[in-house]
Amino acid sequence: MEIKKILFAADFSEGSSTSLPYAVDFAKRYGAKLYLIHVLHDIAKSSGSYIPHVSLDELYKDMEKTAKADLEKCFIEEMRTYKDMERIVLRGIPYEEICRFAEENEIDLVVIGTHGRTGFDRMLFGSTAEQVVRHAPCPVLTVRLPKYA
Ligand code: AMP
Repeated sequence: MEIKKILFAADFSEGSSTSLPYAVDFAKRYGAKLYLIHVLHDIAKSSGSYIPHVSLDELYKDMEKTAKADLEKCFIEEMRTYKDMERIVLRGIPYEEICRFAEENEIDLVVIGTHGRTGFDRMLFGSTAEQVVRHAPCPVLTVRLPKYA
């Protein structure tokens, strides 16, 4: 078995910080490249309603900048100990983008938390983890928060 590329799905929740050490540890052991991926929810796709593109594009540019900075801030410790990492911000439905990226980039392992943000987000977008497990083209390591054990 070869693990050369690992995708870590980051939503800045407790669930994703709990699963990150697994992704980093696997990357170190296998000498794999680690992709830290955050997906900005595409409001137009999720709601199915028409939203003018001009205003949305501006909004997404700002959100993308913030998310890239957050990926750096949140994972600064790990980045110090492991250099072969790339931060990527995508836009769309999170599970679709995660699976598409995995497919197009021949990812060998996806690491994801079983729980992300709760409440409204979850009701609106459903369970990303569940959909990734169902649709990913490669093995998926799901990491549960101790409080849900
Ligand atoms: P959920 O299934 O939405 O409760 O989230 C479970 C896990 O999916 C989180 O711990 C993250 O690892 C991942 N995830 C959820 N939303 C996103 C997102 N927008 N971008 C990247 N990963 C995500």
